[in-house]
Amino acid sequence: KGASPAQHQAIETLVSQFLLTDERLAVIIKEFRRRMEEGLAADGKVLKMIPSYVTQRPRGDETGSYFALDLGGTNLRVLKVTLDGHGGIKTEHQKFALTEEAKSRTLFDFIAQCVENFLDDRNLRPTGQQPPINIGFTFSYPVQQTSINSGTLVQWTKGLNVPGCVGRDVVRLLQDALLRLGLRVKVAALVNDTVGTLLSAAYKDPSSQMGIIFGTGTNAAYYENVNNLIKWKGPNPSSGEMVLNIEWGAFDSDDFGFLPFTPHDIKLDRKSLNPRKQAYEKMISGMYLGEIARNILLWLADQRLFLDGRSSEILNAMWSIDTSYLSSAAVDDSSELIEVQQIIEKTLNVPNSSLVDRQVFKVVSTLVGERSARLSAVGVVATLLKRAELLDNPINVGIDGSMFEHYPGFESIMAETVSHFLTPEQFKNINFSLAKDGSGVGAAIIAMLVSENQ
Ligand code: ADP
Repeated sequence: KGASPAQHQAIETLVSQFLLTDERLAVIIKEFRRRMEEGLAADGKVLKMIPSYVTQRPRGDETGSYFALDLGGTNLRVLKVTLDGHGGIKTEHQKFALTEEAKSRTLFDFIAQCVENFLDDRNLRPTGQQPPINIGFTFSYPVQQTSINSGTLVQWTKGLNVPGCVGRDVVRLLQDALLRLGLRVKVAALVNDTVGTLLSAAYKDPSSQMGIIFGTGTNAAYYENVNNLIKWKGPNPSSGEMVLNIEWGAFDSDDFGFLPFTPHDIKLDRKSLNPRKQAYEKMISGMYLGEIARNILLWLADQRLFLDGRSSEILNAMWSIDTSYLSSAAVDDSSELIEVQQIIEKTLNVPNSSLVDRQVFKVVSTLVGERSARLSAVGVVATLLKRAELLDNPINVGIDGSMFEHYPGFESIMAETVSHFLTPEQFKNINFSLAKDGSGVGAAIIAMLVSENQ
């Protein structure tokens, strides 16, 4: 209401680009499944389907305290995780901001120093008489894993750039740094963050089958039957299963033949650090959605259909719309859209927005956010159907990340979309749960499983 015919028409164009029909999604799901099969059969495919060497499920009755390190792009977290034997988990953690020196030169010595501080502050440092502490290491950078506790760094991403690490075993680098400090700490497991998320969910609920992250990026891990992992040359685990890291953010990156890239997505892709890579991730995850919305809003402004063609230095700058603004706009139900007004006028510094401008901002936010939720169902359905036999019984899917936690309606839209591609009986058996900060906890649980087997 109050919008001009030209504004209505532009919004209709956007709706037709961003609202994906079930027919369209069905085609994408089919291609996703084909890519999964391809990655199970051979290395170097679009979906990497990386073996994690995690072959067990926790029972949920394990007790004791275990340690983990969670290395992200800005922080390192050191955790002590205590399991109560009834699925309950208590964590004590300390966050250390990575210094510029650590990010560019001294990373592994910095990490070892943080471990020492954490242990000494709590009087936990093992003496010569005590057994060493087993620690799980969550490392969310691309690694070619070679055993449960070794893996070669493929490349640095997310702002880290420490010379002399690519092509080397990151566990060895960390273990050597710990030895230099004389710490009796053994790196028992190298863990991708999605694998950690799955294992933390599995301790609370042993029926957990899949772990997903919808945060800065997106990715997922799941338990696969080893017989389906054709490229696997190692010994068959007694459980018959292994957790695979799908690296699903890379989906469709060969030719963009299946994902419905709009001109606004293409604009983002072209200016990104990794053009024509990680296409699925770029349509779904927090790092990108605000920028897609910004591209749309400027396209509208250039036709004088938003803010009467006005902009600001801030709105003109790449990445100035954080994805959290889309969440704020989508929940704003006030009659004057006060929250959206704040974003446009204060945060983005364009004064005098009309109510129609604010409505346009909200519609754009909703289109981008809801497309993300609907597209994320593609990976969920394809992965669950990969082991359709498990859908005869209740299963849990553990999910972490700001998009899942904070974007309004994300879970219900994703679940509703998933339901369109499964039978009602199958869908009834699926539970989606928040696995908050699960990546670090899961690494401690994997360290526990490893030490139980020693
Ligand atoms: P990470 O994946 O890095 O561990 P998060 O899950 O917190 O961390 O994701 C951070 C990403 O989520 C950032 O790209 C940020 O823009 C986005 N984000 C932060 N808050 C929100 C929110 N309320 N709604 C949607 N996205 C958000």
